[in-house]
Amino acid sequence: MKAAPFEYVRAASLDEAVEALSGTPDARVLAGGQSLVPLLNLRQVRPTLVVDINRVDELSFLRKENGQLEIGALTRHRVLETSETVRSEAPLLAEAIGYVGHPAIRNRGTLGGSLAHADPAAELPAVMIALDAGFTARGPQGERVIAARDFFLGPHRTALGPGELLTRISVPSHRGGWAVEQLSRRSRDLALVAVFATVTLSGDVCETARIAVAGAGPTPIRATGAEEALVGRALTDDVIALAAELAAAATDPPDDLHAPADYRREMAAVLTRRAISRAKEGA
Ligand SMILES: Cc1cc2nc3c(=O)[nH]c(=O)nc-3n(C[C@H](O)[C@H](O)[C@H](O)COP(=O)(O)OP(=O)(O)OC[C@H]3O[C@@H](n4cnc5c(N)ncnc54)[C@H](O)[C@@H]3O)c2cc1C
Repeated sequence: MKAAPFEYVRAASLDEAVEALSGTPDARVLAGGQSLVPLLNLRQVRPTLVVDINRVDELSFLRKENGQLEIGALTRHRVLETSETVRSEAPLLAEAIGYVGHPAIRNRGTLGGSLAHADPAAELPAVMIALDAGFTARGPQGERVIAARDFFLGPHRTALGPGELLTRISVPSHRGGWAVEQLSRRSRDLALVAVFATVTLSGDVCETARIAVAGAGPTPIRATGAEEALVGRALTDDVIALAAELAAAATDPPDDLHAPADYRREMAAVLTRRAISRAKEGA
């Protein structure tokens, strides 16, 4: 199938992109096209206007600033995957990126595109929730910052308003141990369930813990109850097992042709247990 007809604007600057998007509420931004182009071709989306941001160089950057990573929305997955700065400042993000599709997809796909696409099974939205990232959006009313935890509203639904586009992703640096545990039907398929964890220790005692689960609800889920069960305690097998059960209880998995809900919930517990154990070893 081919896409339904649409107007096409290739923006040369952020201002041009914002101007082109304003006034056409159903307009879509084209970044890497790895999700948008299939949706267009299957006619699952039929925008009247597509605004191509691939030549907006000011949206493509990666730098460390004030203890956090500042990443332009148009930064390709491959740039993040191969960056020493990402590896040292946000190793959870560095590990998770390798799970996004295949190299060809990571060569074109962008961080902003993955987040705006808001697939509940995608890795990067869950990573951003785990790391308490902030997203900068620009639209006709100017700029605003949206916390990652407030950004994802449902499957493929975000807090972005009409005419707004993501411009920058701010990811606080993290230290300690981390782990990604993912279950998918085939290697590098979208996750049936995935768990992203970071842990810091003081001696044997857990100082901080961050746990996010993908593929187990309409949005990525931050398992705060599980985190609270870890902080201030030695991470014994029993403590980790309790946190894993709490993480699973916080999920609201879909029951679909890929896997039944009960199976996903049980796997959320298994993967959380593994992720915390590995993060503890690395902390
Ligand atoms: C075979 C295959 C396998 C895949 N496997 C995975 C996987 O394992 N994990 C995973 O997470 N994803 C996977 N994907 C999906 C894909 O990799 C990501 O969704 C993609 O990287 C999104 O980025 P993009 O730049 O290509 O976005 P695009 O396709 O260009 O855009 C996606 C959506 O985001 C919007 N958008 C893009 N940029 C912005 C912006 N700056 N501001 C506002 N809106 C914006 C677009 O309008 C569109 O609605 C796979 C895709 C394919 C084709």
